[in-house]
Amino acid sequence: MNTLINLGYLVAAALFIFGLKGLGHPRTAVRGNLLGAVGMLLAVLLTLLDRHIISYEWILIGLAIGTAFGVILAVKVQMTQMPQLVALFNGFGGGASVLVAGAAIIVAVLHSRVPSTQMTVSTATSGLIGAVTFWGSLVAFAKLQGIISSRPAKIPVHQLWNVLLLLVSLGLGVLVVLQPSAVAWYWLLVAASSVLGVLMVMPIGGADMPVVISLLNSLSGLAAASTGFVLNNSVLIIAGALVGASGLILTSLMCKAMNRPLSNVLFGGVGATTIEAGDIYAGKVKSTSPEEVAMLLDGVQRVVIVPGYGMAVAQAQYAVRDLANLLESRGVEVLFGIHPVAGRMPGHMNVLLAEANVPYDKLKTMEQINPVLEQTDVAIVIGANDTVNPAAREENSGPLAGMPIIAVDKARTVIVIKRSLSPGFAGVPNPLFAADNTLMLFGDGKQMVVEVTEALQTG
Ligand code: NDP
Repeated sequence: MNTLINLGYLVAAALFIFGLKGLGHPRTAVRGNLLGAVGMLLAVLLTLLDRHIISYEWILIGLAIGTAFGVILAVKVQMTQMPQLVALFNGFGGGASVLVAGAAIIVAVLHSRVPSTQMTVSTATSGLIGAVTFWGSLVAFAKLQGIISSRPAKIPVHQLWNVLLLLVSLGLGVLVVLQPSAVAWYWLLVAASSVLGVLMVMPIGGADMPVVISLLNSLSGLAAASTGFVLNNSVLIIAGALVGASGLILTSLMCKAMNRPLSNVLFGGVGATTIEAGDIYAGKVKSTSPEEVAMLLDGVQRVVIVPGYGMAVAQAQYAVRDLANLLESRGVEVLFGIHPVAGRMPGHMNVLLAEANVPYDKLKTMEQINPVLEQTDVAIVIGANDTVNPAAREENSGPLAGMPIIAVDKARTVIVIKRSLSPGFAGVPNPLFAADNTLMLFGDGKQMVVEVTEALQTG
């Protein structure tokens, strides 16, 4: 039976890997997702055949509670809250690792078994990484949900506390290995690592959140892999390692997108901006109307649409697609410029535009679109702010300083669609709104795009 289970695990692991490969491109992503899900179903079913299971009742109760939560979340959570949900899921992964590793060591002690060094080392690792992931993710969730401010929050000698807590956690980890029968060491380790998780994420704010979220995602995988060593479960080790590795790759891509080394995101802390909204906007902001924008779009050759978080809030992706289709039917070249950290989760804009069936070859990366913008008649910014903020080129822009942006300010005319002059996630005022070549179209993203499209049709 064991051989059969392990062979099945091997098939599940292969499905995960093919699934991940499929997720690498939008065209194959749906199939990739399906392969991964089939692999997970296989892994769960095979695990249920384990002869060590003594009670299926508890598993069924857990399954029922989990399913109930899953259904409620799936029905209630809006598309704009997806990033928070992903942060929460990362956290639950870490929390589950902490509890499973803790339970395993308690069971060993209750049955007077002396746990192997592999088990104690991996239990300590699960406790440390899992607790950091759980509490770090809860803080990230609270920042994204607006429960706490997204601005960096620091306590005096913050990094010193972090180093101290890490050393205490490591020390307690050594005690878990040396005295596994004293289970209290494990829970003290979890407590210290929990405080470390909170303190690690609190000072990270504004534009650096994407890096933290992908790092926490990676850590949840590492915690799971380490729990796999606690339980001697090969498929958990493989699945955890895959999540850990892909999360690390994403973290490195996000760091590149932000133009910051990871150490700088985690330990650098960002200064506040000295740019004042009053100074840059006073008397310089020009607002426009849908009719005027429609007139502007008449007879142009190239339009670049740059979406941001506001497009997700307004659910404007279908309206944007209709506008793009109308312009194209009139011979205008329409391209989309996608910033790697636009929205609130990696790939956020790609997902929304794919949902509205915008052809994938129209979506251009920041590197591809920036050289094109200089030869663009009109750039339409819809709900993007930080990712098009030219202040990022200045040193005094605090959290945005040094972040590469989509250079919409280089286009001949820029139309910015948003509801007010309020800043983006990083809280930095945006000089683009007061630029000579910018017109502000104030209003809800979807409604404004619909009105521009109607004005174009009737005009
Ligand atoms: P921003 O968060 O900078 O700005 C979004 C803008 O959308 C706001 O200024 C808001 O202005 C506008 N908006 C909100 N609702 C609407 C609406 N209904 N209609 C029209 N506009 C609306 O967005 P960006 O995408 O440019 O930048 C993303 C930011 O989030 C970056 O700082 C990034 O680092 C951070 N982040 C990204 C993550 C990721 O993985 N992608 C994860 C976590 C954070 P107004 O209120 O005036 O309408």
